[in-house]
Amino acid sequence: MVVTWLSDTSMRIGALTGLHLMDLHLRDNADCGDCKSPHLHVCHRWGNPNRAAAKIKPDWDVVDGTVTKGEIYRVSPAMISSYFQYMTTEYAKYAAMGHGMLLIQLAGPRRGEPWSADAARGMLRRAGRRAQLPGRIKPQAFRHEFTNKVLDATDGDTFVAKVAGNWASARMVEEVYGHPDLYSPQFTAALQTVWGEAE
Ligand SMILES: [Zn+2]
Repeated sequence: MVVTWLSDTSMRIGALTGLHLMDLHLRDNADCGDCKSPHLHVCHRWGNPNRAAAKIKPDWDVVDGTVTKGEIYRVSPAMISSYFQYMTTEYAKYAAMGHGMLLIQLAGPRRGEPWSADAARGMLRRAGRRAQLPGRIKPQAFRHEFTNKVLDATDGDTFVAKVAGNWASARMVEEVYGHPDLYSPQFTAALQTVWGEAE
């Protein structure tokens, strides 16, 4: 799941391990009204138990129990299916009550508690060694690969790549937020190509 979520978005590992379940809006037309397609909100929170801190800190809010704003990332169908797989197996089995965070430790004395960004980096390193990949897998590599794929799929449209990859500054996200290009056939087609769903 972690690999799918990193490779289908351009999220930083700190943002991923900082996600709360309430940040995920995986159905169409979520209550936040921020994005019509399935998406998630990266919100900078102080005092997450695992100290994961999103690096970029746009304003976010909770309105009537619904997370709004923050940094918005579109969510791929593969991410949604890996999420349901995870929630109905490992999460259901081990998650400690009350913290509300998405990623938990699956082994060790602190099983069920939130997973730290450092532990996530260690997992990627070990996975890389097992797969006998040269060098270390760095989470940033997923961001660069994602952006390159979007650029390929759009014939080098940097605007679409910027939006899809959330490379832009928080202010830029605000400016393009709700921009019709986010829902254009071209944008959707680019994401589908990157997510491996194009025919
Ligand atoms: Zn939302």
